[in-house]
Amino acid sequence: MAASREATGNGLARTMANGHDPLSERIQIIDDEKRFTPELTSQIERWGLRDAGFNYNIVAVFGSQSTGKSTLLNRLFGTTFDVMDETKRQQTTKGIWMCRGKDMNIMVMDVEGTDGRERGEDQDFERKSALFSLASSEVLIINLWEHQVGLYQGANMGLLKTVFEVNLGLFGGKKAQDGTSGRTLLLFVIRDHIGTTPLANLQTTLTSDLQKIWDSLSKPAELKDRQLSDYFDLAFTALPHKILAADQFEMETRNLRGRFVDKANSGYLFKPVYHKRIPADGVAFYMENIWEQVQTNKDLDLPTQQELLAQFRCDEISAVALAEFNEQAKPQKRPIEGGKVVDGLGGMMRSWRTMALERYDRDASRYHQGVYKRKRSDLIASLDATLSPLFLGQLKNLHKACLGAFKKEILEGLKGEEYNFADVVSKAKAKCETEFATGAKESVVDDSEEGKTEWNWEEELELLKEEVKSVADQCRKDETKKMVNAIERNFKKQISEPVELALNRGAPNMWDQVLKAFRDTLDKAEATYLTKATSFNCTEEENAHSLAALRRRAWQVLRSKIDEQTADSIFVGRLRAHFEERFRYDEQGVPRVWKPEDDIDGAFKRAKDQTLELIPLYSKIVPQDSSMAYTLPPDAISSQDSGSSLEEAFDFESSLVVFSETKALDLAAKFRKDADLAYVEAKRSTVSSVAQ
Ligand code: GDP
Ligand code: MG
Repeated sequence: MAASREATGNGLARTMANGHDPLSERIQIIDDEKRFTPELTSQIERWGLRDAGFNYNIVAVFGSQSTGKSTLLNRLFGTTFDVMDETKRQQTTKGIWMCRGKDMNIMVMDVEGTDGRERGEDQDFERKSALFSLASSEVLIINLWEHQVGLYQGANMGLLKTVFEVNLGLFGGKKAQDGTSGRTLLLFVIRDHIGTTPLANLQTTLTSDLQKIWDSLSKPAELKDRQLSDYFDLAFTALPHKILAADQFEMETRNLRGRFVDKANSGYLFKPVYHKRIPADGVAFYMENIWEQVQTNKDLDLPTQQELLAQFRCDEISAVALAEFNEQAKPQKRPIEGGKVVDGLGGMMRSWRTMALERYDRDASRYHQGVYKRKRSDLIASLDATLSPLFLGQLKNLHKACLGAFKKEILEGLKGEEYNFADVVSKAKAKCETEFATGAKESVVDDSEEGKTEWNWEEELELLKEEVKSVADQCRKDETKKMVNAIERNFKKQISEPVELALNRGAPNMWDQVLKAFRDTLDKAEATYLTKATSFNCTEEENAHSLAALRRRAWQVLRSKIDEQTADSIFVGRLRAHFEERFRYDEQGVPRVWKPEDDIDGAFKRAKDQTLELIPLYSKIVPQDSSMAYTLPPDAISSQDSGSSLEEAFDFESSLVVFSETKALDLAAKFRKDADLAYVEAKRSTVSSVAQ
């Protein structure tokens, strides 16, 4: 067969059939220097078997040199192994070659030079390649000439002894943890079967020889009762002479091929029980490890090897899944850190996570279950370590956004005149909390474990509730203040007229009237406050506080009204009017025309004295009826109302005083001047009337 050969740097070679069909490439996995190729992984990928999972088979052939092994494999599997050139009778290279079966998921190993015993050569390689083949193959073809059957001392039997021995080491002790039995099928193919001795007889001879070999093995004590059949199934077939009975040879190889390829064939050889359960993507790593162990003569037990393989592959698969996941998660980091609430973040995070785990599960679940599961929880921890900050960031941003919306909603709700504060707040509060909870729940990645702290959002909700409450409280305070101000303005309006009226009149019960008006108006104001306050959900304490402030401010309003009405000019004017009413008009209210006989002096003195009596009346807020006296309650006196500029201690008693005594004297003096003027004028009028 024509083949091109390309040498690689380290002396290993991969050769290709003409046409460069990667499926028909072959690879020397172990060279004559007993080195393992670094290229098996990529070769398996080129064969298209990397993702085959368990859906592939491995078969290897053993037998003396030049017994037509490669020829047989090429016939059975459509492979391209070197066949010895008839004309040159050249020895083929020692080593192990591998091909992919044509149109089948079968990796075929051609083990060359396994009869060192016969050639007195390297028995070391024989043992090592036996170990290697048993650790990976489901079916081991033992190829031998018919005339070699029964030659108990022959090379084949030596080889089988090796096979049995190493098998005990591999599978004898521990059972593989994943339940594989480590069973292998030994298929004896008897070549150049002439037919005079029926296959059944050859089979009997071989079976008893095998039994003898088995019995002669020195087994470790704990395995001394183990039978050959505990580890191996035996199958036998014979092939006619390739040249002398070419047609039958072709027909029989076709039949045998069917037993490898056709699962429905009653003699199907690749029974599931023989599978070594190495996922296709791990075969290369596994084989390389096995070979390394074999080479360094370390103890080789398959369960340990499978666990090592699983650790290596699960790490690799996990890393790939994690990298993909990180690619997906990365673009969302910035907006979250920038304070944005990312819509549908939870959905995205769940899908990245699910995809990563599915990816991992797809490839890794075929490996040693303990390792697979352990690495899976490691992967979950890594995924969640990335997701958790996104989740917490989202919560924080959501918190901010909801609080902002809450404030806006309240401002909006308090815009008009007609609103119920409590309603506005409770509606906005409910909306805010619902929005937060909805957003938070959406962002939860994994709620499968109750109370898992990673995905807890209730604490953040509690914080939000607290802030909402403090905003609402502040708002309520502002609103209450606004309302108290409005009531105060209204109070001012209402108190104005009755106070002016009473002070104008200057009746002896003037203060009784003023205080009555004050009380009535204040009562109304307080009632208004209480009615409105019900919609503010104020506490008793807050209400008491507001009312105290209201009372104090009402008193303040009254006092400034009184001050306004008793300003010097106004007051002196009022005194003058009072005086004139009595001096210039008679009892009937008719203007007096003074005649000389009139008692001007007496009238003047009466009017003046009556008027001066008013000064002490106005100078202090004292009702005639002492029960009408008003005292500002102590909490109103001490009320620290930031809305008022009067923050210093308030002296209620002194606020009852309208004029000081000096002020009273001053006012009286001013009035006297006016009165004297009126007197002079009156005197002058009598003189002029006499003169007329
Ligand atoms: P290998 O060394 O065991 O791989 O043997 P090869 O497949 O290279 O074949 C060695 C020689 O035996 C070649 O010249 C083949 O043509 C020849 N050969 C192959 N199959 C048979 C067979 O079934 N009977 C006989 N007599 N010769 C065969
Ligand atoms: Mg060969």
